[in-house]
Amino acid sequence: LTSLSEKLVAKIGLGKDFDPERMCDSLRERGVSMTAELGRILALPRRSSDFETQGYAPGGPRDLTPLYSKGVAQCAVVRDGGDCPVCRCGPPTLWTIQSAMLWEASEQNGLLGEVAVGAGKTLVTLLLHDAMNAVRTVLLVGASLRPQLIEEDLPAYGRHFHLPPYRAVIADPPLPGLYIVAYSDLSNAKKGDVLNRITPDLIIPDEAHRLRNRQSSRTQRYYRYLEAHPECRTAPLSGSTTKRSIKDAAPLAEAALKKNSPFPRTHGDLRDWAAALDPDNPRPMQPGKLLLLCAEGEPVLSGFRRRRVETAGVVATTASALDTSLLVEARELTLAPSVAAALDYLEKYWAWEGEEIEDGMAFARISRQLACGFYYRWVWPGGTPDDDDRAWLAARAAWHKDVREMLARSAQEGFDSPLLLWNAAARGDWQPASWAPWASVRDRYRPHPPVEAVWLDDFFIKDVGLWVAKQQQRAAVSDGGAIVWTVHAEVGKQLSERLRLPYYGEGRAAAEALTVAHPRNAPVIICSQLAHGTGRNLQAYDANLVTTCPANAPDIEQLIGRTHRPGQRADEVHVTVHQHTEALRRGYWQAYRDAVFIEQSQGQRQKLLYANRIGFGVARPATVPEINGATAPSKRA
Ligand SMILES: [Zn+2]
Repeated sequence: LTSLSEKLVAKIGLGKDFDPERMCDSLRERGVSMTAELGRILALPRRSSDFETQGYAPGGPRDLTPLYSKGVAQCAVVRDGGDCPVCRCGPPTLWTIQSAMLWEASEQNGLLGEVAVGAGKTLVTLLLHDAMNAVRTVLLVGASLRPQLIEEDLPAYGRHFHLPPYRAVIADPPLPGLYIVAYSDLSNAKKGDVLNRITPDLIIPDEAHRLRNRQSSRTQRYYRYLEAHPECRTAPLSGSTTKRSIKDAAPLAEAALKKNSPFPRTHGDLRDWAAALDPDNPRPMQPGKLLLLCAEGEPVLSGFRRRRVETAGVVATTASALDTSLLVEARELTLAPSVAAALDYLEKYWAWEGEEIEDGMAFARISRQLACGFYYRWVWPGGTPDDDDRAWLAARAAWHKDVREMLARSAQEGFDSPLLLWNAAARGDWQPASWAPWASVRDRYRPHPPVEAVWLDDFFIKDVGLWVAKQQQRAAVSDGGAIVWTVHAEVGKQLSERLRLPYYGEGRAAAEALTVAHPRNAPVIICSQLAHGTGRNLQAYDANLVTTCPANAPDIEQLIGRTHRPGQRADEVHVTVHQHTEALRRGYWQAYRDAVFIEQSQGQRQKLLYANRIGFGVARPATVPEINGATAPSKRA
């Protein structure tokens, strides 16, 4: 069946130079017409879509936990002090939306999962095999995520849920079970027959927006296989299927739900609907008869979304859920010899520039500077310290020594940080000999004399340059943009000069300038993490380089949230985190454990935990020394 505009063209038989787009202007004003496809979609049965807040409605999905759970509330990994992502927040159960996806997939023999990141998609992809009574299931995932899925997620979920047998190799003939195939293996000429070798009767494309490009060989192989094997079911899952155009989601929905798809199945209808519904269509069309999908006064977009998600076989998270996936990736880098030597010295002598390190915070501060190839040195107003400066230094060192010893000895409340100890001494609740001399000279420099930067090596600057060059290439052919985050003004300045990029540091002028920064005028920018790591709306950018990982969960949550936020148009936000020194690795793992704690205690889902993470290794035990905490490590010999 064709749309009205196509029928008209056929009837009046226009010549070769006829431009249907121009000719249709008057039709556009009248809007989308009534067609058999619209009639079919209007007639599809509706059911409630709000699984998350309404729970299990009679006749609808049920809680499938008893069917799949092994009843292990806490696994041996956690009992041995390790981290299990599945049971660390309590006995694992299936969430309502997970049960709904499995239930609907089984009832409809297909599924379109329009689910946001963090909705528990991974477990669903592992259970659909059983829910849909499949013999051989192919789970399609991004190549970079495959190792994490196989090495971490599969064993962790396997401790708590009955999973299908995982097949790492394709036997001849292929055995029943779950095969995890990278999208790139579909396009790979050598492995291109992977579907025909496995002969799945269920294909689950995770992050199904990767099948958007109809010209790509992976997309063609997926649809070609389904066409040749009508018995094969499919359950595409993605948070961003309809983000750019309904044309992207329509073929996925049709493959999964056949005649029950809530998207038009003919080219002409789809073109008109897209013109009426897509956000950026250059030749928008009036909604016309699409308003039949709407309640009185309801905007057409909302009416169409409601029609979609109330269709059996379509399970969606709420419209406000963030539909952009998140990838957090570690970045390694070989240290320059001079920097490696400096870090060794710092670690060994717990001293720097002739001064003892006062606490873990000071240690972390210096080692993070060194990780970037430089450190800040004090500049004495007279060139070298004068008598008063020397008295200031001596009083300071004595005070730090007392503070460090006190912190090492007792961690009682009110006496467990340098600031609290200062306050206690000022009140007279604690009386070390060093306090009075230090209190009398402390204000000579607050908190310390002016600084200058000393650069040891530019290995780090060069590495950022490599990352930036890649981002600039990407920005030239796509809409996205990239942000380099730094905590050191000196690094921001150096990067800005060397790479000729705008640097948004502290102060109001920078904050105002940043509000108009956009990948169109500045594809790659440098931002101060301290000044702009919270509050700013930078969703026009979709890639981040975190040069100094915050060592706590709220800060990294905020930082990721600058770009991974509503309004983000990309399918995926990338966060690359430098991990080339021990201090940076400790910082990351501290933030990670912190996030686990917040999620456990406050139930607030943490981006760092639901992100796909690559290259950080397995979770470290909590015995790694704190670097930002109040407890000063004991002095090394
Ligand atoms: Zn567990």
